[in-house]
Amino acid sequence: MRKFRQADWDEPLIFELSREGRVGFFTPSIEPGVRDPIGEVEDHIPANMIRESLPKLPELSEIEVLRHYLHLSQMNYGVNSGLIYPLGSCTMKYNPIINEVIASYPKITEIHPDQDESTVQGILEIMYQLKDWLLTLTGMDDGSFEPAAGAHGEYLGNLLIRAYFKEIGEIEKRSEIIIPDSAHGTNPASAAMAGFKVVEIPSKEDGCLDLEALKSVVGDHTAGLMLTNPNTLGIFESEISRITEIVHKAGGLTYYDGANMNAILGKCRPGDMGFDIVHLNLHKTFSTPHGGGGPGACFVGVKSFLSDFLPVPIIEEKDGEYRLNYDKPKAIGKIKGYYGNISPILKAYAYTLSLGGSGLKESSEIAVLNSNYVATKLKNIRGLSLPCSPDKPRKHEAVLSAKKMMDETGVRALNISKKLLDFGIHAPTVYFPLIVPEALMIEPTESESLERLEELIFAFKTISDLAYSKPDEVLDAPKNTSVNRLDEVRASHPKTMCLSWRNYCTISKQQT
Ligand SMILES: *Cc1c(COP(=O)(O)O)cnc(C)c1O
Repeated sequence: MRKFRQADWDEPLIFELSREGRVGFFTPSIEPGVRDPIGEVEDHIPANMIRESLPKLPELSEIEVLRHYLHLSQMNYGVNSGLIYPLGSCTMKYNPIINEVIASYPKITEIHPDQDESTVQGILEIMYQLKDWLLTLTGMDDGSFEPAAGAHGEYLGNLLIRAYFKEIGEIEKRSEIIIPDSAHGTNPASAAMAGFKVVEIPSKEDGCLDLEALKSVVGDHTAGLMLTNPNTLGIFESEISRITEIVHKAGGLTYYDGANMNAILGKCRPGDMGFDIVHLNLHKTFSTPHGGGGPGACFVGVKSFLSDFLPVPIIEEKDGEYRLNYDKPKAIGKIKGYYGNISPILKAYAYTLSLGGSGLKESSEIAVLNSNYVATKLKNIRGLSLPCSPDKPRKHEAVLSAKKMMDETGVRALNISKKLLDFGIHAPTVYFPLIVPEALMIEPTESESLERLEELIFAFKTISDLAYSKPDEVLDAPKNTSVNRLDEVRASHPKTMCLSWRNYCTISKQQT
């Protein structure tokens, strides 16, 4: 008899569950005299490409297969599987099922991007309409859905800045992109990928951008500024208009990282704050789960003077007919096949349509209320603090510090986040942004009720009490998860990371 499964690395692989001759389905046998369709296909395959032996597929009954995959899915943790998922800067909110249903309609999944325009009028209309709504929400004039991720959108934005300065003959001298030290790591990476030199400026003690530091680095060599607002501390840059004015006066362009729009939808618009380019992560704010490897989609909005540089094709409408315009001589070209990832675009369309302007605004209000409620309660827990303007309201997220707890008990942000797993809560983002020591970045989103927020606060309070009384109970967490504490290095090192077939793991273990 198979041992009761311990929830650890010894989870059997589907190949190990296999028993010779066991089957989950039967195909009808071919009647005598009827032509064998597989045999017919084989006739057209070159002899040297035909298998000599059957593939080694696992042999199982249907129920074994079902149980195996259901169990694996239960070892995982998702927004829909349990209590709160406070993964700051990632906006892990509830994504209404209706949007998934709409995105999986065969009418959508079975169309092909090479189809004639006249046969895909519906999807073109959807993209045209969504673009219009997103332009209204951001205060921009034109945009593209081509990028497949936020970082990809930033890269596109930087290419647009490059194309613009090339056009006006200033690309030789304008080689620098200014980025605050609180920025998401993708900002400097994408600016560098687009060939710019990154100039980092420090944030002030209150967490906001330092105007004096900005003034000291802008000049003839400035191509642009990339800014996240609300910034990664969850604080709205109060001098935002001054910031964009300073950069514009120096001749540079302004880029708004709007990966997290959850705090400001329907409240204020990057276009009105003086930004020339903005990107939105549809897979954070607009109803596609972030992470997990599914396709993402990013919308990049621009002011009209950058419109000609956007990648082709542009969807245009005339007399109710939609067409794809590839005739844009100044376009930077393409950065992705076809027109972007349709499924997240469609979910964003359904989400925006179902909430409407007032619903989107309300969702932002609840997201901000929730993060302030949690931040206010957590900052009063022993060992935790809210650095950078503790009394200033937060937007969609708040970054707490466990520095005091670490100094007094040895329990670090990492240990707190591992212990949260034992409460059935997903770990928050930790050690980001880099300017906060022992950072815990918490974004409850609008999805969670007061009761769930109280459970989160209770978990933090319990962990703090443990840290000051029995710290070992926090230090060796988690205990209740399907996999116990991992070796952080081995778990992510390509040589020891084990993603597949057990033999492969054994081999790689021997190598190290
Ligand atoms: C998530 C995020 C990004 C990058 O988005 P990806 O889709 O992960 O590439 C950029 N900036 C900020 C502030 C983010 O939170």
